[in-house]
Amino acid sequence: MTSPEKRFPLTLSSVVQSAGKSSNTANTLYSGQTAMQNSRQIRDLHQKSMEPVPLAMLLDREPVPEGLRKAMVQRVAQLGVKDKVVLDAMLSIPRHAFLEPGMVGQAYVDASLPIGHHQTISQPYIVARMIELMRGGRDLDRVLEVGTGCGYQAAVLSLAAKEVFSIERIRALHELAKINLRPLRIANIRLHYGDGCKGLKLVAPFDGIILAAAGIEIPNELLQQLKVGGRLIAPVGGKKQILQLVERISEAEWHSSEIEQCHFVPLRSGVT
Ligand code: SAH
Repeated sequence: MTSPEKRFPLTLSSVVQSAGKSSNTANTLYSGQTAMQNSRQIRDLHQKSMEPVPLAMLLDREPVPEGLRKAMVQRVAQLGVKDKVVLDAMLSIPRHAFLEPGMVGQAYVDASLPIGHHQTISQPYIVARMIELMRGGRDLDRVLEVGTGCGYQAAVLSLAAKEVFSIERIRALHELAKINLRPLRIANIRLHYGDGCKGLKLVAPFDGIILAAAGIEIPNELLQQLKVGGRLIAPVGGKKQILQLVERISEAEWHSSEIEQCHFVPLRSGVT
């Protein structure tokens, strides 16, 4: 029989226990942790990863212990993600800052979660896997994300590429992502409101393109906006979806491989 802690929505203590901590730790951190202690944890985390600490992270909205994020990243690694750049990026970005206050207790569970407007923040594992596949061990200059949602994946991408362009078709989510990202003061993300199926011709070509929503096929305009040698990663399908990796071999040749099954919200055309 499933124990009560394993059912969704998970309680904070069940998350902490699965992370190998005692529930006592969670109680201490949630009821007793001061903003100052929280700031120190985030500053330490950044010092370890040799990143400058954005001031806004020191003013973080919720006191969430670093241990929860570490446990999430450990799980992502156990599921097979090896790229250290990606794992470090996941360790640095506070996923809880992209969720409504009521969802914060579940922020570090490896699951997709609702962000409103019938959309979801992607599962941490799949965010990491897609960025790892898009990188393919290379340093990335300019990348495009289709489907900004709440902005979480764009923030992770900002630590794995020099420049991140991200498009969202739902205006309210585009605005939400701006609000979520502003306090993190990430200088290399550009958010656009529009139909991502058309890409961003003015700033193309891209070293990498990630689609965070599943279409029946990959839009041709996006294939055209990929650099030769670049990689596009996208969920493809309807009810049954498969993650596809497309590499542009030459001006007129693309090579596609199927990676694994996945589940994403649908890619839709137009804006709303
Ligand atoms: N990247 C997000 C995932 C968001 S869910 C994360 O960090 O977790 C996928 C998003 O794709 C939704 O917000 C949806 O509105 C958006 N989307 C779907 N079709 C789109 C299109 N044609 N152009 C831009 N965004 C699109």
